[in-house]
Amino acid sequence: MVGEAGATGADPGGSDSRRDSGEAAVAEAGSGADESGAVEGAPDWSASFHQPPASALARTSAKPAAAHISAQLLQELIDWARDGYPNEACGIVAGDRSAAEGGRPSVFHRLTNAARSPSRYLIEPREQLDAMLAIDDADEVVWGVFHSHVASPAEPSRTDIGLAFYPDSLYLICSLASEVPVVRAWWIVDGQPTEVSLSVG
Ligand SMILES: [Zn+2]
Repeated sequence: MVGEAGATGADPGGSDSRRDSGEAAVAEAGSGADESGAVEGAPDWSASFHQPPASALARTSAKPAAAHISAQLLQELIDWARDGYPNEACGIVAGDRSAAEGGRPSVFHRLTNAARSPSRYLIEPREQLDAMLAIDDADEVVWGVFHSHVASPAEPSRTDIGLAFYPDSLYLICSLASEVPVVRAWWIVDGQPTEVSLSVG
C-alpha cells in the first residue's frame, strides 16, 4: 500500500531563516594534487566517492518526481529525530543507487549532530567518514541526507539549500513541529529545492 509521507501537517510555519550549518562536513573535491599516477585529464572521483561519475549526467537530467521508502526506514528516521530532540538529528541513508538514478534506500546511518543545536546540524565528521566507508564497502551510495527540524516545517532552510552538496541525493527532513512528525523529501540542485513525492510501504 502506498501512502503519502509528505503530507503537510497544520503548521503555522516560521521563517526558518535561522542559521543551520548543514552538511558543512561534506568533503569538497580534492585539491587535485594527486601524485599517485592518476590519468591525466581523467576526472578525479577519488575525493568524492559519494558521487559516482554518472552524477555528472544526472545533474543535468530531470530528477525523479517520486521516491519510495519502506515504512520501517521511515520510522527509523522519525525515531532518530525524536531521539535527538530537542536538538536537530541527522544521518545518511544509503541506497543501491543514487535517488537521482531511481535507487532504493536500504540502510539509515544514524549520525551525531556535532552542533548539538535545536536550530542547526553538523554531521560529526568522523562518523560521516565511517558511514561513507561502510556505504562504499557495501557497494552502495548516498541515497539521502537526513536531518530534523524541531520547530519548523520539513522544508529546506536557506542554509540547508546553501549547504546542499549532493545534487543526486534526496534531502529528507523530518519536522517535529506538529504532533504527528512529517517527513518530506527534496532535491536541492543549484540552489533550487524541488519537493519529491515520497511514497511509503
Ligand atoms: Zn534544516
